[in-house]
Amino acid sequence: MKIAALAQLADPARCPRLVVKVGSALLVGKDGQPRREWLSALVAEIAAARAAGQEVIVVSSGAIALGARRLGLAKGGRGSLSDAQAAAAVGQIALAGLWAELLAGHGLTAAQVLLTLEDLEDRRRYLNVTATLGTLLAAGAVPVINENDTVATNEIRFGDNDRLAARVGQAAGAAGVLLLSDIDGLYDRDPRQPGAVRIPVVKGVTPEIHAMATGGSSSGLGSGGMTSKLQAAEIAELAGIALAIIDGQPTAPIATAFGAERGTLFLPRGRKQARKAWLGGKLRMRGSVHVDAGAARALEGGSSLLAAGVTQVDGEFQRGDAIAVLGPDGAVLARGLSEYDAAECARLMGRHSREHEALLGYAPRSALIHRDQLVLL
Ligand code: GLU
Repeated sequence: MKIAALAQLADPARCPRLVVKVGSALLVGKDGQPRREWLSALVAEIAAARAAGQEVIVVSSGAIALGARRLGLAKGGRGSLSDAQAAAAVGQIALAGLWAELLAGHGLTAAQVLLTLEDLEDRRRYLNVTATLGTLLAAGAVPVINENDTVATNEIRFGDNDRLAARVGQAAGAAGVLLLSDIDGLYDRDPRQPGAVRIPVVKGVTPEIHAMATGGSSSGLGSGGMTSKLQAAEIAELAGIALAIIDGQPTAPIATAFGAERGTLFLPRGRKQARKAWLGGKLRMRGSVHVDAGAARALEGGSSLLAAGVTQVDGEFQRGDAIAVLGPDGAVLARGLSEYDAAECARLMGRHSREHEALLGYAPRSALIHRDQLVLL
């Protein structure tokens, strides 16, 4: 039973597990204080979903915004990485406390989970997150997740909770991800322009869809914006997860949006094997290989990548690292786990498999990227 309409995200039969992402501007008022009343109403919706048999995972922003106020930092704590890290350390306690208190009002136990990008990019750690979330949900808890902003450094952080939510949805095997935003969906152009039209359903995040996004967060409190929401939608789509953007501002935003079918729903593609979905959602590649037109066609047809079709090798990757595969026009075709390190790939590229043993000095592997370890984008 696929999800084909927004309100179906509330159906526990179609969507037994749902990730709800809440942005900073919804949680924290302009005065830097938590918006308790609004959050209470949302928590009541989450409790109702749980009571109806749906498991809910919360991804909550707001640590930096809350902490910045308490520490008296300028620019909402986003002036520098060290400000953001200090603000998050202070704000996260308040944030988790707030969720715990409000969930407890409905007899629910909150479970704080702080993740870094690397926790989800490394396969072993990713599986560990999967197991922990499963245990928490089975025990009846509501995981409340945020990025571990205090320790995440610039180059290894998500920076926005939209992509984090999509990755969490994947790790948790969720059927749906709901992004509560300050706008009721994706518009065909800048929504402030006259004549802008909301797109109710998106089937495939194409370059045309990307062209509709208009960049940064409009509130200035979060770091998301439509660009990161579309990246989240891409991750979800590949993982076979439905993702929706709704307006989080009304009281009880979920019922409001679902009741009116108002939002943008990104339809999932067919569910991929879990390992391939993880690979497709990975954010950091260690390197890349360029392939010729023949190899590109073979990949589209479901074959493994052979060294003979490789024309260029970039990056310093090891055997087992994730790399991108680029077509003759430079577009990314696929991602996969390399069977060789970068130097070996360079030695083998353009060469037929029968030459490989002599080039390497040992028995070669069957392919440069085996098709079981490769995902087409
Ligand atoms: N993790 C950040 C926080 O809690 C929010 C990131 C975002 O704005 O998406 O403040």
